[in-house]
Amino acid sequence: MGTIANLTLPAEAAERVGGFVDFCAKATEELEGRLSIYRPGSELSAISRLAGEEGVRVSDDTLEVLQLAVQYAQTSKGAFDPTVGPLAKIWGFGGEDSPEQIPAAEQIQAVRHLVDYRKINIRSLENKSGDHTNHAAVVSLEQKGMELDLGGIAKGYAVDRCYEELNARGASRFIVGIGGNLRCAGGRSKKEPWRIGVRNPFVTGAILGRISLSNGAAVATSGNYERFVEIGGKRFAHIIDPRTGMPVQGMAQVTVIADTAVDADALSTVLFVMGVKSGIGILERMGGEALFVTDSRPAQFLATGGFMSRFEPDPEIAGRVTLINKSRVTLERRGAK
Ligand code: AMP
Ligand code: MG
Repeated sequence: MGTIANLTLPAEAAERVGGFVDFCAKATEELEGRLSIYRPGSELSAISRLAGEEGVRVSDDTLEVLQLAVQYAQTSKGAFDPTVGPLAKIWGFGGEDSPEQIPAAEQIQAVRHLVDYRKINIRSLENKSGDHTNHAAVVSLEQKGMELDLGGIAKGYAVDRCYEELNARGASRFIVGIGGNLRCAGGRSKKEPWRIGVRNPFVTGAILGRISLSNGAAVATSGNYERFVEIGGKRFAHIIDPRTGMPVQGMAQVTVIADTAVDADALSTVLFVMGVKSGIGILERMGGEALFVTDSRPAQFLATGGFMSRFEPDPEIAGRVTLINKSRVTLERRGAK
């Protein structure tokens, strides 16, 4: 998935670590083989290659991630869109070189109609044979030139798969993480929760504070420093607003705590696009807690109450976090400690 996967276990489980790493590596490799846009043989690449022509029969995993992605696209009215591929390419995020100039409005306009989750067709082929039900589905894209990109949700899905694999094999205390997405089981010890650092988006190697996680909780971070291109001396980050065709500007980082890694992953990308005011309703509906960091001088830190109850900010930002009141969507300043 073009990123680093890691597994944290308490020291007493050290002798089992090799086996656990193998299970995660196998699950992740299988998913990557199906979902990567950089592998011509993946199911996702086949769906894009055959866009406007025919459908592709997909595995249960691909079906599940795609269905979740479409749900998030519907809920966010297209701020999250798994067909963002053609726009991502124009900005140089498709694996090729970045453009020398900022893409012209006409160039963006010319592919806008190809970015539309409503043009993904999922046809179920469920059939019963005796007691057994076979679930299968065929996925097609309505127009030639459309391309799927599940980069905003697939890592979280892979983290959940590893989490389930490890749970099923009797591991009860661990953190599994793939590039900015993680999920934990149990605690650091029997009494203490796992605590993880939230990266400071402005200072490499520094953190904004630590989150204490309860059993099963997941965290995802989307940041403008993760992948970006430089065009004409200006930086453009890899998360695109499908409604404008432009990379999102003004947001440095969004961190989400949710019950599953796939939800945390999708939500952090959705909120990065939608911002605080429009995004908060979705957070309420999907059940997550978030910290937003704006890309402004000075930066603003905005967090929900549920996020703050688990977050121990570093002294440097402790008095600077504005509380977001989810149900009233008002912003209250949190006084310095
Ligand atoms: P994340 O790091 O999880 O926030 O995901 C960012 C990745 O999601 C990008 O690298 C693209 O692959 C993909 N992406 C970019 N913009 C969008 C969008 N508006 N909706 C869905 N996926 C997107
Ligand atoms: Mg994401």
